[in-house]
Amino acid sequence: MKVASVLIPLPVPEAFDYEVPEELTVMRGDQVAVPLGPRLIRGVVAEVFETTGSNRKLKAVEQVLADPRLPERTLDFVEWAARWTLSPPGEMAATALKGLRAPRPRPERRVRRVEGRSPARPTAARTAVLEALGQRSMPGPDLARAAGVSSGVVKGLVDEGVLEPFEVEAVAAFDPPDPDHAPATLNPDQAASAAAIADAVAAGGFAPFLLDGVTGSGKTEAYLEAAARALRADPTAQVLILLPEIALTQAVIERITARFGVAPAEWHSGVAPPRRRQAWEAVVSGRCNIVVGARSALFLPYANLKLIVVDEEHDGSFKQEEGLVYHGRDLAVARARIEGATVVLASATPSLETLWNAHQGRYRWLKLAARHGAAVLPEIGLIDLRECPPDPQTWLSAPLREAIGETLTRGEQSLLFLNRRGYAPVVLCRSCGHRLTAPDTDSWLVEHRYTGRLVCHLTGFSMPKPKACPSCGAEDSLVPVGPGVERVEEEVRQLFPEARTAVFSSDTVPDGKSARALIQSMADGEIDILVATQAAAKGHNFPRLTLVGVVDADLGLRGGDLRAAERTYQLLAQATGRAGRADKPGRALLQTWTPEHPVLQALAAGDRDAFVEAEMAEREAASLPPHGRLAALILSSENAMAVEKVARDLAEAIPNAERLEVYGPADAPLALVRGRRRKRLLVRADRDVNLQAFLRAWLARVKVPASVRLTVDVDPYSFL
Ligand code: ADP
Repeated sequence: MKVASVLIPLPVPEAFDYEVPEELTVMRGDQVAVPLGPRLIRGVVAEVFETTGSNRKLKAVEQVLADPRLPERTLDFVEWAARWTLSPPGEMAATALKGLRAPRPRPERRVRRVEGRSPARPTAARTAVLEALGQRSMPGPDLARAAGVSSGVVKGLVDEGVLEPFEVEAVAAFDPPDPDHAPATLNPDQAASAAAIADAVAAGGFAPFLLDGVTGSGKTEAYLEAAARALRADPTAQVLILLPEIALTQAVIERITARFGVAPAEWHSGVAPPRRRQAWEAVVSGRCNIVVGARSALFLPYANLKLIVVDEEHDGSFKQEEGLVYHGRDLAVARARIEGATVVLASATPSLETLWNAHQGRYRWLKLAARHGAAVLPEIGLIDLRECPPDPQTWLSAPLREAIGETLTRGEQSLLFLNRRGYAPVVLCRSCGHRLTAPDTDSWLVEHRYTGRLVCHLTGFSMPKPKACPSCGAEDSLVPVGPGVERVEEEVRQLFPEARTAVFSSDTVPDGKSARALIQSMADGEIDILVATQAAAKGHNFPRLTLVGVVDADLGLRGGDLRAAERTYQLLAQATGRAGRADKPGRALLQTWTPEHPVLQALAAGDRDAFVEAEMAEREAASLPPHGRLAALILSSENAMAVEKVARDLAEAIPNAERLEVYGPADAPLALVRGRRRKRLLVRADRDVNLQAFLRAWLARVKVPASVRLTVDVDPYSFL
């Protein structure tokens, strides 16, 4: 008997076996309909094997679906990713099929000539229509426009039977990119990097690179040139460019379109479903060469993937924490290995993991030393707030105010950076000291003045600001504490009433379109002072921006999780790197209460190596990543007792293991989210320990009831 193991989108660790009826031919990667309880469900065949009649009564595969077979290596990757992240393989496979679940675009309605029919009354307008159409077909409104007549004329011809309407399937044209459309003249560093990457693609086989260059050094230009060479050598090659934020995609898409003469396929949550369906089909059939996307683009079924670029590879947004938990950068390297492809991790501030791999010689290290052309890196100064504190209830110190004033006078732009949305991060009762928190979540409510609401940034819960303190009932006693971007903008408006100001945060620019509009008006010089969260700190090029002020450089350093210093360094280096990217020199001023902190000293000195060395030494001493490995188990449930019980069971079931420790269970820092109690356990292991095998053995020993959710987070980035 023939049996097919089928991956089904369910939270189970194994594939399901089905009998393959005689009349069906089934292969690995085929999409099939199989019975599950009373319904039919779509699955992917992982394996087909012969078995000599065990008497298990297997259900049979119902049908092999006409949809494309998943390419072998896509399936290899999906299975590997599931094992690495301890995720259900069927759910991983479903991610690769997501594009198929989107509806096809609606067919296009067109008109064409009916053979042998002519109008009874050939008026000038009708003749114009028939001439404009010729032997072609086109949508009625386009035809009317082309002929310069009203649409009634076309309709008249249809009614008379001279033209006939019909429908065609809208096939997305992903025209082949032209590698020679508009090549850039590269500087020697860029040319060497592009050549090294292109040579690796040509040689074939897995080849990982770190493309390391300061902001504005021309990394994008270099990897686009490598892509061009790869496409010249093999017009069927596919290139994937991963970006951390949707807000960045537009700029990159425009550059690719300018470079190659055609737009790439776009893949992220902001793309309309029919368009995604078209991209999916074009990728699997090899009709599309360049894909620009978010981390989920890694799961597309590439026919011939040759080059993956992970731009801003250090960025934490590559880590997906909801649903399937995975790190897009790490999986990109795995995908390249499985595809036998080249992968380029690009950054001005590479992650410690990547730097370590480069140091070890696992990744080839390409360096772009200087900014392209005349642009130079901004001078970075620290403002010691102990010496010049801002006035009470204000946030900008005298030196920063002065610098903004000078920049304004010169007609140049300033960016004030504060990684805090809203008006004030905390609302406090002056009478009783109560801090307002969300009703079913351990987090403070943030005041938003634009919307007049108090918002929980974790869950999205919001409510109008109450008149009285919910704790003591005192009226008009609730006061905002601390600054968010809206409050800093208020201060800026008071200080510089003549300046044109704007706020850039996920509240003011909730989608790609509004982000583009704001970026454009910044680029066009319509804004003098932009107050922004990290949403604006990444990637964008603002040629007239010459001053970056960091309102609270200590902010990220206080959290105290594993990557607090690293993240702060990266974020501030990116933010300050926005200044002076064109011909005018830029400067950056960082307000801090702790100017002696090594992160701030390294930033001021522009000495990344010193920072990395110090941070790496600390990680090594504690055997933490990249010198050790971590995994977190997070338990949550509305039933607090059930969480306690599973936590206890897990603690009792820890398998014996060397060079590995388990910490916890402990209440998570966010112990209550949306009414669910949360507990955490953390595993630390030496690098050579098989962490996944340990976790699998451990979890196999404990029964988790349906009321408790257990999330496994391998290489966690969030410790909340
Ligand atoms: P990065 O990706 O390292 O931040 P970019 O590739 O965005 O740098 O380059 C920074 C700026 O310099 C961009 O405006 C880009 O168009 C320009 N640039 C980079 N390399 C070249 C080149 N070889 N010729 C002309 N302009 C370049």
